[in-house]
Amino acid sequence: MRGRFAPGPTGYLHLGNVWTALLSWLQVRQQGGTWVLRLEDVDEQRSRAVFARSILRDITWLGLTWDEGPRIGGPYAPYIQQQRYGLYMRALQLLQRQGLLYPCYCNRARLQTLGAPHAGERHVYDGCCYKRFKKNMAPPGDKPPSRRVHVPPDTLVFADLQYGRQETALRRDGGDFVVRRADGLFTYALAAVVDDGAMAITHVVRGRDLLPVTAQQIWLLQVLGYDVPQYLHVPLLVDAGAHRLSKRQHGITVAALRDAGADPCQILSYLAWRGDLVREKRRYTLAELVQQSELSRLSGEDICVAAPEREICSLL
Ligand code: GLU
Repeated sequence: MRGRFAPGPTGYLHLGNVWTALLSWLQVRQQGGTWVLRLEDVDEQRSRAVFARSILRDITWLGLTWDEGPRIGGPYAPYIQQQRYGLYMRALQLLQRQGLLYPCYCNRARLQTLGAPHAGERHVYDGCCYKRFKKNMAPPGDKPPSRRVHVPPDTLVFADLQYGRQETALRRDGGDFVVRRADGLFTYALAAVVDDGAMAITHVVRGRDLLPVTAQQIWLLQVLGYDVPQYLHVPLLVDAGAHRLSKRQHGITVAALRDAGADPCQILSYLAWRGDLVREKRRYTLAELVQQSELSRLSGEDICVAAPEREICSLL
């Protein structure tokens, strides 16, 4: 069993990140697997070395030890996406050879006019530039294109360990997606899939916000010849207004909680208790959390954590 935690170094580690890290770590530790840490920094403009350092420091401080990853290496090194561009390039070449890759010249304004399958979701690309590509038409200008992958009209079915049977029409619900941006940067949609495949990940635990892109990721894994992991999507931590916890919120970063006097076991126990993994509201040691957490007790409902600081610091 190989699980992974894959934070993007675009901010400080906060309770929402720790929640998914904890669940993935517990799943692996309970089953004697290998826990992989990977820094997802393909978005070079938003990623910062200072955040990468602070994330590694905070995960270490929390005691969520990793078996492979930055600083310690491992058989699938490197574990930092900016050092893995050769692999992403090879994946693109494979897609190109299969005739699935095409240049897209659509600008943001045009993409914004396209509809989304559900409220609040991303648009579904209408295949405009695929038609242009098929007809061998000349580029509309000299602006560099992004690269999209052409998905089939198939419906993909998979079972999520938390949310059950999922049925996604690849073209209708997701559409052709960008794997390389016009500025040359690879996208999360490509890099995360290549890495889960190449790092032989068998168990993915992550926020339910990524459930809608999972079918697309499974399809791409298969096209690239990788094994498909099992997916466990988990409810999100939300504030009193039902908004997803964000890095901008005060008092929820690991650093702020540490400054307020919280210790690692208080933070992890609080999350395990709020997520209903353990029955009592108290401070557990890491070993107790591994022994006593029941991941099967997790419900699909988002978890409200309004003003958690006081509750965390008072756990005995
Ligand atoms: N880097 C992604 C994030 O932080 C990870 C997504 C995933 O686990 O696949 O949201």
